[in-house]
Amino acid sequence: MKKLTTQEILSTYKLISEYHKKYLKKYGVILPNLHKGDSYTKDALVLIYLAQGYPDTKIISKTELTEFIKIYYPNTNDVQQARHLGAQKGWYILSGTRNDNTSINIPSGSYKLKSLTECYSGFTAERREELFSGDYWENLKKAYGYRCACCGSEEGRKHRYWNNITVVLQKGHKDPTKPLEEGNIIPQCESCNRPDRNYWVYDDKGRVISISNEKVIDGCSRKVQKAIYSRLYKKFNGMNPEEI
Ligand SMILES: [Zn+2]
Repeated sequence: MKKLTTQEILSTYKLISEYHKKYLKKYGVILPNLHKGDSYTKDALVLIYLAQGYPDTKIISKTELTEFIKIYYPNTNDVQQARHLGAQKGWYILSGTRNDNTSINIPSGSYKLKSLTECYSGFTAERREELFSGDYWENLKKAYGYRCACCGSEEGRKHRYWNNITVVLQKGHKDPTKPLEEGNIIPQCESCNRPDRNYWVYDDKGRVISISNEKVIDGCSRKVQKAIYSRLYKKFNGMNPEEI
């Protein structure tokens, strides 16, 4: 893993921005901001790391990328940004896992920025819309064995818990605070996906990993509420919530 100087980061980002403006913006490719507050954004860091030496870019493993991101975000375990920058944001990043390249053989779990003058193969701003129909959804359901990620009920059969319901799978958010798009969808039966239950963040196995609506706390015991209050009080140094 190569550490980059501030100068290298700034100059590579400038290069990327110039190519983006000239060639990629018109296709709807999204240029990540370099900064968020005092930090660099993960998206920008990943793009910069992949763009080193452009146009002679190297194949970079996810492990190497993760080590690099850890310099700035020590708690990072698994960098997903390279995949998202390609499939969702339109950057021409070849991926060894996605099996989407032709002449270049990229090992599984590695990436290569192929071009800054062309966008990701088949990318258009409208492509996101296609995620909501057709192959993506069908393949996703297939990957889950046509079962609800949360309760395991199978599509077209009787619901596991309610015998009078025939299961129809719906596109459920993994994280309801983010857009319903590739990477953020799990199949859920209607009972697990009721809109008024947008309280939880799930992993891809349908396990709850976080909350997405603070109202959940209203249903907690006083003991848990007190513990949450105590944590937040410490975290925000007892500040008035209006001033945070
Ligand atoms: Zn379910």
